[in-house]
Amino acid sequence: MALIDEILRDTRALAERAAHRSRRTVRTSPEAAAWLMADREIDGAPSAAPPQTAETSGTADALAELARQVAQCTRCPLSETRTQTVFGAGSPRARLVFVGEAPGQQEDLRGEPFVGAAGQFLTRVIEGGFKMRREDVFICNVLKCRPPGNRDPRADEIAECEPYLVRQIELIAPSVICALGGHAAKTLLRTSESTTRLRGKWHSYHGIPLRVTYHPSYVIRSRDVPEKFKENRRKVWEDVQAILELLERDEPPCFGPGSIEA
Ligand code: SF4
Repeated sequence: MALIDEILRDTRALAERAAHRSRRTVRTSPEAAAWLMADREIDGAPSAAPPQTAETSGTADALAELARQVAQCTRCPLSETRTQTVFGAGSPRARLVFVGEAPGQQEDLRGEPFVGAAGQFLTRVIEGGFKMRREDVFICNVLKCRPPGNRDPRADEIAECEPYLVRQIELIAPSVICALGGHAAKTLLRTSESTTRLRGKWHSYHGIPLRVTYHPSYVIRSRDVPEKFKENRRKVWEDVQAILELLERDEPPCFGPGSIEA
């Protein structure tokens, strides 16, 4: 009986992957670009919680089991200071996975990734730029627990926690990963290169094409300098376009000079 269950689970997972490989995205219109670039007010209020999908697929089951393991994890000292773990949220069938560095204060309190002003900006990018719903992508961090005071994650914490991310990526099997911010990008790609040098080209993380863009918090913080704010949003927009093109082509990108494989 256990063997039959296992075969059924594997078959479901294969069918899902075949199905979501054939999905296409819609090319974003100039109107959507203008919407993303608009000088709309972004306040600090938490964004509406994205509804969790209730898919009963093998991938969803496996992710739920992984989330249970993460919730009980004590592999590193962050387990002693967290309010709760922040596993990630979104579709188990996502073609696009966003990865940040670590939960912040609001994420730690709510148990959800990218809430607050940064979450609002990310939602705007997803809905206005990618023309997707937030629940159609998957959003998570390298670390599943908040470092106290939002300090930078330590190497030992990353080493203990990254296997959870790798398993998430294996299960979801997205077409593209978007690293949010230099810290996440450097951690994922094992590099000390600057965000400026990492942006604008394709990298690879465990065989999945990876693109680097600015962290939403960084973009929002630049509001005090209007020209910088505009430039940062333009660059995010360029990154959105590159990812959209890859999703539409649905074939491997060109890994040129400066590409990193991790
Ligand atoms: S950060 Fe990761 S490894 Fe450390 S306790 Fe949390 S889940 Fe476990």
